[in-house]
Amino acid sequence: MYDPLHDNSPGTNEPYPDSYWASMSGIAPKDDGPIIGEHQVDVAIIGAGYTGLSCAYHLASEHGINACVLEANQSAWGCSGRNAGFILKSSGRKSFTQMQAQWGEEVMRGIYNEMAAGAETVNELIDKGIDCEQQTPGYIKVAHKPKKLKELIALAKLQQEMFNYDVEVLSKNEVREQFMDDQNAHGAIRYQDGFGLNPLKLAWGYHKLAREAGAKIHTGSPVTKFSTYRNGYQLTTPQGIVYAKKVVMATNGYTPKGFHPLVSNRTLPVLSQIIVTEPLSEQQIQACNFLTSNVVMDTRALKYYYRKLPDNRILFGGRGAITGKAAEDPFYAQRLLKVLKTSFPSLQNLSYQYAWSGWICMSLDDIPHIHHNPEQDIFYAMGYCGAGVSFSAQAGKRLAQKVAGQKMADLPIFSRHLPKFPFAPLRRVGQWGYFQYGQVKDKYF
Ligand SMILES: Cc1cc2nc3c(=O)[nH]c(=O)nc-3n(C[C@H](O)[C@H](O)[C@H](O)COP(=O)(O)OP(=O)(O)OC[C@H]3O[C@@H](n4cnc5c(N)ncnc54)[C@H](O)[C@@H]3O)c2cc1C
Repeated sequence: MYDPLHDNSPGTNEPYPDSYWASMSGIAPKDDGPIIGEHQVDVAIIGAGYTGLSCAYHLASEHGINACVLEANQSAWGCSGRNAGFILKSSGRKSFTQMQAQWGEEVMRGIYNEMAAGAETVNELIDKGIDCEQQTPGYIKVAHKPKKLKELIALAKLQQEMFNYDVEVLSKNEVREQFMDDQNAHGAIRYQDGFGLNPLKLAWGYHKLAREAGAKIHTGSPVTKFSTYRNGYQLTTPQGIVYAKKVVMATNGYTPKGFHPLVSNRTLPVLSQIIVTEPLSEQQIQACNFLTSNVVMDTRALKYYYRKLPDNRILFGGRGAITGKAAEDPFYAQRLLKVLKTSFPSLQNLSYQYAWSGWICMSLDDIPHIHHNPEQDIFYAMGYCGAGVSFSAQAGKRLAQKVAGQKMADLPIFSRHLPKFPFAPLRRVGQWGYFQYGQVKDKYF
């Protein structure tokens, strides 16, 4: 599998991975094919995931700028077509209490509002006619140990007080009787407004909206060279050259090795793995009382997440391999299946039908960054830390505003550059160390 820390291109026109979403979503929408020959554009966007597509749509529909999107493979070939489809009002990994301690209450509230606006932006885009199989609203955060429930209750209280956020506290019995009989659940908190959807159909919906608004989307067009040219930039692809006044990098966890100095050594791509089981029979559903189709995540340092899909399969996810070379080793999918069966022991005979993984994008400071370097007309948004389905739509909208010259609120997600990883060549060693620490923490503390 392509490994962004080792390879300098994600490939050319690679097919979608063999995922449940790619099998169940029908035919991809029409695109503009590989870019051929020389072209001059005002704005080029590299990467056709949610970030790039939302930026292209908002540039065209709100600022009258028809961008040229260059995608190495297929539209939403990266994370945007492979994720679990959890729409949450959050992004990054930094807690709101950490933000408050570091930057004060006003900044923390500003970031919260921006993340909440992300979920609204997704809903607004869906309302334009995207059919993406949204499920019943509800996001359940499960305590994987009794003492974690106390922490969740404190979090719920804080969010109710600070943001007037509607958070329900559920005892162990309430979770097991009213939602799902998860043997690893020791209580939970439940937000009313998260939900699950088909992530690939969502991306294809953005794709259609962007093209209808006037953007061009060129698939099979990896940018293999990114250099300055006169007052702008030259982007070289296998069959074409694009001269652009402004460039948006929307490559997130798939950013190739050494792609551009502005982002090199400033992200850590980490594999997240998903399995989708065969459909559960009515009997199996009853045996584990799997009533809910809310999205579920636990409190582990190395988190697991799951949801029941509309056709009664279970989508179950967690960490994957460390390197691209090991990504397809069935060990990682089997490991997820084993954990699933500790949650639902009555499903001992269940097997999985789909398994795949994708590169999420960690930032050193655990927040996403939507950045413009004032000395260069280059923009980027990345570093969602595995929580970018809703926020990337907002980031794309904000990128479009930045490209159009609008000012942003004074928040670190807009004003700060992605920080560099110290000892960047050793990022994988650090990740391995964190996985070891996480395993011990989750088991014993
Ligand atoms: C298994 C998994 C589960 C996840 N589940 C959730 C979830 O439930 N909820 C949530 O909020 N987040 C989730 N995420 C994270 C979420 O999917 C991402 O944050 C989001 O999709 C990022 O979108 P993006 O457009 O920024 O990047 P991507 O969708 O990754 O798009 C980047 C694109 O850039 C292209 N590219 C790279 N280099 C070049 C180049 N040189 N030239 C041209 N094109 C290039 C790639 O081909 C790729 O298509 C999950 C991620 C994974 C992997």
